[in-house]
Amino acid sequence: MSFSSEVKNELLQVSDSARHCQIAELTAFVNLCGYYDGEILIFLSENTRLLDKISSLVEILTGTRPEILLYENKFCARLRSLEDAQKLANITIGKRGYDRPAINPLAVSSVCCKRAYIRGAFICTGSVSDPRKQYHLEFSNSDYDHANALKGLISSFGIDAKIITRKNHYVVYIKEGEQIVDMLNVMSAHKALLEFENLRVVKEMRNNVNRIVNCETANLNKVVSAGVRQVEAIEYIRKTVGLSYLSPSLEEMARVRLEYPDTSLKELGEKLKPPVGKSGVNHRLKKICEIAENLKGDI
Ligand SMILES: [Zn+2]
Repeated sequence: MSFSSEVKNELLQVSDSARHCQIAELTAFVNLCGYYDGEILIFLSENTRLLDKISSLVEILTGTRPEILLYENKFCARLRSLEDAQKLANITIGKRGYDRPAINPLAVSSVCCKRAYIRGAFICTGSVSDPRKQYHLEFSNSDYDHANALKGLISSFGIDAKIITRKNHYVVYIKEGEQIVDMLNVMSAHKALLEFENLRVVKEMRNNVNRIVNCETANLNKVVSAGVRQVEAIEYIRKTVGLSYLSPSLEEMARVRLEYPDTSLKELGEKLKPPVGKSGVNHRLKKICEIAENLKGDI
């Protein structure tokens, strides 16, 4: 099962006990998978568990469970009476009119109700990527005003959602791991949140380990290539004028370097008698390389 389906299944099991939150969640369902023409109210979805959840909410709020019908090979839930349909439409999407807002502000006036609405919207139109692959959570909207109103609800929780257009749809999306965690929390997807966090920690730890390994490899390459150059210089001096050409301290340095061609400067310094610090070793090796260069120039 995809991570997205896991989140939705968890959200389908969340049930609010407060009537205001039940209305808020049902408002999302009416807006996003419901059709109301002033008389008939139906809900269409391929997800039978969602239709079941809607039916339960309708039953709690009206006292009557909707009838389930087959409509164009899809199941739909239809309210049995016109009065119930009208009553439910009024308390969810509000009274009909041209200036009716995309999300009825009365249905989402409290923080708890905003959470319930966002949860309902996610069940209908949301999806979230597997955190092992990428951080992406989105809601697809056919209506720009709804996308914008939903973005507003999300931002009231300090989460920065953005809108892009994709094939006549307005997609409200969140790209940042930390903010997706906040969204899962807002929607009360606590199990999914824990799983997301675990996968995120593993992913970030792996990234950190890779960064450290890459960094150490780079340092190692630097040590090796400097060592190779120094050994070449020392070999050149030895073959041309002999190491005794060097001052005693440089000669000792040269012999130690030949013996330990890929040891770090710090460790090389510890092998000298008396020991010399890293910068002293660096100075001596530079000097040896300069002498080799000069010798090459002379010949
Ligand atoms: Zn509420």
